[in-house]
Amino acid sequence: MLLTITTTYSPATELGYLLHKHPNKVQTFPLTFGQAHVFYPEATAARCTAALLLSVDPVGLVRGKTRGDGLVDQYVNDRPYTASSFLSVAIAQVFGTALAGHCKARPELVEQRLPLEATIAVVPSQGGTPLIRSLFEPLGYTVSATSYSLDEQFPQWGDSPYYTVRLSATLPLYQLLNHLYVLIPVLDNDKHYYVGDDEVAKLLRHGDGWLEFHPERQLIAKRYLKRSRHLTTIALSRLVPENVDEEPSSLTPENQVPSLHEQRLMMVVEELKKHESHRVLDLGCGEGRLLRYLLKDPSFKEVVGLDVSHPALARAQERLHLDRLPSHLDGKVTLLHGSLTYRDRRLEGFDAAALVEVIEHLDLSRIPAFERVVFEFARPKVVVVTTPNAEYNRLYPSLPQGAMRHKDHRFEWTRQQFADWAQKVARRFGYAVRIDGLGPQDPTVGSPSQMGVFTQHVG
Ligand code: SAH
Repeated sequence: MLLTITTTYSPATELGYLLHKHPNKVQTFPLTFGQAHVFYPEATAARCTAALLLSVDPVGLVRGKTRGDGLVDQYVNDRPYTASSFLSVAIAQVFGTALAGHCKARPELVEQRLPLEATIAVVPSQGGTPLIRSLFEPLGYTVSATSYSLDEQFPQWGDSPYYTVRLSATLPLYQLLNHLYVLIPVLDNDKHYYVGDDEVAKLLRHGDGWLEFHPERQLIAKRYLKRSRHLTTIALSRLVPENVDEEPSSLTPENQVPSLHEQRLMMVVEELKKHESHRVLDLGCGEGRLLRYLLKDPSFKEVVGLDVSHPALARAQERLHLDRLPSHLDGKVTLLHGSLTYRDRRLEGFDAAALVEVIEHLDLSRIPAFERVVFEFARPKVVVVTTPNAEYNRLYPSLPQGAMRHKDHRFEWTRQQFADWAQKVARRFGYAVRIDGLGPQDPTVGSPSQMGVFTQHVG
């Protein structure tokens, strides 16, 4: 099994720094299932190719294990020749630093988009070329796949499910490695080396920043986790930072409209209108779900969305079609990149600010800074804050006990904790506060989400 990565970035040999493997050396790394060799078939300033050759030892794999499968199948199989989860393990072990997006020698190259081409020989795909395309094309790759006949001497046997796949795109190297790490085992639908709870964490870590937007994310999660429904549910429910309505939904049937998040957004809009807020901030606007309502509603005249995540802002820009709005809406919404934990003069002088499911994404140690940024410096007349109610989590059967609803949540508060915080903030900064539950109310644990509406004391 051979993976090659080629770049024509100039000077191309910078690839050696990014991969932490010297172009002049051939290196061999022992793995539990065989060996990985790294070498460079070409390394010039114009073009550089790194090769990862994996030799999987099928005998070593089964040694010492007693299994019910037929013996021949244990020794004669496609594992040594095809790309599978073994390749992901090898990438993580041999190119781990590059995979994590670190490079001490060339830090400026880590995020740089480079012209890259990856060739994998061979990839198994029961879904043929369409499956390969559906996984890689949405990520911006040009894909070519060459198939092979099962046996050249017997063309009537037809094609094998094996392909040499060539992917090319201009993107940071660590992104390419993460795409391969997740998607190669997805193509290989065979037995998996091991699937445990930590595979969910791996999927989320390596899928960070792209999997949540991938149109095939359901299929990817399901196949990556080898069809474990339990694990797939957990993964999907934690996948999308912005997609807060994909909370564990066993209580609320999927077709129930509006979803919890829609209800939340409508209640926030309601509050803003009640206070006759015309110039409004959406802080931590994510992909722009609230912005969409604010854009459409003529009672809002000027709307500013702020987020710390570039990809989220790019999504918002795209989803709201901000570059081709009808003339009467043109310029109504502005997107700003910034962090809520730093004072920002662009946020001053607004009627209201909404923070929908945002504060729980901030480190607790940064909450005091955030309080001053919003309540002391930006100081809008009205601030609407929503956040999960941690007590409600036990009604989500798919959520392990004590777990939070999303991998990026730093904390989740009970009703008492939220009320204590809100009252303290209101007192300190001269606001009054009212707290409401959001979503269906359970007699014991309350509502899934909670909202605090802060209004500035007059005078
Ligand atoms: N309000 C949106 C998104 C909620 S998800 C909605 O209701 O759909 C939380 C958002 O907070 C994410 O988009 C995340 O990027 C953003 N965020 C996290 N930390 C932030 C910070 N320090 N400053 C600004 N935004 C932040």
